[in-house]
This record gives sequence, structure tokens and C-alpha cells, in this order.
Amino acid sequence: MSRKKAIADLDDEYFKLLFPDSLSERLPQLSQMELLIHLQQIDRELYDFHRGLRILDQNILQAKNRLLKLRFKRARVLQIQRKLKKKLSSLQSRIREVKHLLEDPSQQDPALLVAKLNALKAYKLKFREALPPIEERRIRLRERFRKVKDLLRTWQEDRKKMRRMFKERQGGLEAQRAALQKFVDSSLMRSYEKLLQRYDGQAVVRVTEGVCQGCHTMIPSCVVSSLIGKRIVVCEVCQRFLYFIATPLEPIIDLNELAVEEPRRVRFHAP
Ligand SMILES: [Zn+2]
Repeated sequence: MSRKKAIADLDDEYFKLLFPDSLSERLPQLSQMELLIHLQQIDRELYDFHRGLRILDQNILQAKNRLLKLRFKRARVLQIQRKLKKKLSSLQSRIREVKHLLEDPSQQDPALLVAKLNALKAYKLKFREALPPIEERRIRLRERFRKVKDLLRTWQEDRKKMRRMFKERQGGLEAQRAALQKFVDSSLMRSYEKLLQRYDGQAVVRVTEGVCQGCHTMIPSCVVSSLIGKRIVVCEVCQRFLYFIATPLEPIIDLNELAVEEPRRVRFHAP
């Protein structure tokens, strides 16, 4: 689609709503590289939303699985605790019985009963000693359960907030994207989209101090200086589009200063 046609297709008022004044006027004059930089910012935001939601979903799922496992462990510890207590109380009543028999003066063999009593007491002591570590384990499990539950709640709230923000931004971002796309050469757009998928939302990367910020390869200085001329240049290693700007990228609304004052003729070299 030609630029003139693209501009004619856009409703003026709507177009101005999408972009800040100066940018909407300059958009038809921007170089292909500058258009890609603007597109990239929009896509970056969209990808960041998707990535953020995906990470939160994973975290939430993991936390839920963790809680299930902890619940299972806690149930087992409680079961052991109950068994131990039951055993202790039965030993206690047997000890009482033996003591009662010993009090009987007509008892035939008190020595045997005393031995039995001692054996029972030793047995009881063993069970009693087993109780505290199990109680400690139960408390530790309960604390871990609480911590994971708190984390789960935080992540669920974050996800809710993020979804709400995404809902608010999505429509505007997609409309901006569609408007910008009309000015980008179609074969360039195809390469851009491919890179976008391949590099998870990062098709256009900045060159800082002579280094591609995508793959950290040194870019020859003659290539860096050609970037100032807004040419389309790709990194030889990662194939991403390179750009060089003295100031860091700002959100789309503050992009005005990034556009060239005097638009230069685009020299498009397909990657
Ligand atoms: Zn690279």
C-alpha cells in the first residue's frame, strides 16, 4: 500500500487520537527504521503483558501444586501424631493396670510384674521422645503452607491487576500498531514479524557502545555510523534490526524527539 493511500485511508480525527499531535503529522515522513522502532515499542509492551501473564500463570499453578503436596504431607504428619498419642495412652493404661496388680498383696510373682512395668515404662519413654520432632515438623509444614498461600494470593492479585491493565491498553496499542503498519514496507514487515516471534517480542535492538544489545556482538564502527543515517541494517549474528539513538527509548507517547527533524530517503536492504 502506498503512503498516500495509507494516509487517505485513515480517519483524521481517529488518527490524531491514536498518536500525539506532532507524531501523527510526522508519521508519513518517518523512515522505515523509525517506523520499526515505534512498532517495536508497541509490540514490546504487548509482549511484556503476555509474558508477565504467562509467568504469573505458571507461578500460580506451581503454588497450587505445592499447596496440594503440603496438604498431603500435613495430613500424614497428623495421622502419625494421632497414632503415637493413641499408643501412648494405651501404654499408660497398661502401666496403670500393672501398678494396680502390684498393689495386690496376694500377688504371686511381683518381680515379674516389676520387670514388665519397667519394660512398659521404657517403651512409653521411646514413644514420648518421638512426639516433639513430629510436632516441630507439623509446625514447619504449617508455616510453609502459610507462606505459599500468601504468595499465591499475591500472584493472583497481580494477575488480576495485570489483566485489567492489559484490557485498558490492548485496544489502543493494537490500533496504533495497525496505523503504523500501513506505512511499513510489506516485505520489511514480514521480516519484522518473523524476528518478533523468534526473539519473543524483540525484533529491533539498540546498539550501545558498539555492541548489539540483542546478542552482545561487537558491531563494526562503519556499520554503527551508517545507523545514524537511518538505514535498515541487521546484526550479522542475530539478524535483528539495529538502531542507534543517543537517548534511551521512551514510551510511544514520548517518542516525538526520536523522529528525525529532516526525513532522509530510505535505503531498504532486505535482511
Ligand atoms: Zn545481534
